[in-house]
Amino acid sequence: MSALKVNWSRQLWQAICVAAASLTCVAAVAQTVPPMEPIRVSENSYYVQGLAALGSPKNQNFISNAGFVIAKEGVVVVDALGSPALAARLVQAIAKITLKPITHVVVTHYHADHIYGLQTFKALGAQIIAHDAAREYIYSDTARLRLEASRVDLAPWIDDKTAITQPDQWVKGGETLKLAGTDFYLALVGPSHTPEDLAVWVPSERVLFSGDLIFNGRLPFVGKADSSHWIKALDTMLSFEAIAVVPGHGRWSDNPKADISLMRDYLSYLRQSMGTAVENLTPFDEAYDATDWGRFQSVPMFKFANRMNAYNTYLLMENEGLRAK
Ligand SMILES: [Zn+2]
Repeated sequence: MSALKVNWSRQLWQAICVAAASLTCVAAVAQTVPPMEPIRVSENSYYVQGLAALGSPKNQNFISNAGFVIAKEGVVVVDALGSPALAARLVQAIAKITLKPITHVVVTHYHADHIYGLQTFKALGAQIIAHDAAREYIYSDTARLRLEASRVDLAPWIDDKTAITQPDQWVKGGETLKLAGTDFYLALVGPSHTPEDLAVWVPSERVLFSGDLIFNGRLPFVGKADSSHWIKALDTMLSFEAIAVVPGHGRWSDNPKADISLMRDYLSYLRQSMGTAVENLTPFDEAYDATDWGRFQSVPMFKFANRMNAYNTYLLMENEGLRAK
């Protein structure tokens, strides 16, 4: 298509959009948003991969992954993506692969970029499943204010019709559910990244959907997470001996043992080095400079994440020390 034609059609769409704020306009604008192509990781398991970016109107908040498994009698989705429009695109992408209905969505945790698409699946009749501990966030001011801010920051993809969708089924973690005729083990891996963390293990596929507990091929942002729980959760995930791990962000892992071990080693090293510093009353800056970071320096995101991770761990170890006294 010539540049002239592209320009013309863009202008035409803009004109139509101004004239009538219709669904057609949303569809036309959607053509310029990032592509969404399901990636197959085992016989019946797939995922779509969000961008390594901040959510914006341009990317429809496509900054996290969602997975799906074609089970015996239907499709089970893991996480719902960051806007109803993205969820609708995922529904379309799934329909190109199978005619089976989407029967369930399991939510790994209630962060905005994983849940704003839930209402789209619910409207199609899918059952939403999440961990009990998500109640606290769902009914919190934090969730409400975040949604209000998103209606501004992510317009038109998040609007007045976007809501925080509650689960139809609450779980405690540690149970196997038969969903659409196939077994899914919902592993209790929180509180780590959030209080309500679930990981989804599909034994027949040997695929693990880890939510945000695994950052594949890069260092994580530890934030205020409880890293001792996080390490235990990584041990649980290692014990599955998965052949594929689909993380909450970034590319899937076809070498889960190496990728999970890297995360585990890193968190353990942070706790050990910062724990010793706290015990010896060494100030943070001094302790940070004296620590040998050589093993992790070449891992992507080291420059952006490591110092903050070390500092947060230092504070955590101080708190843990206070609690132990
Ligand atoms: Zn998250």
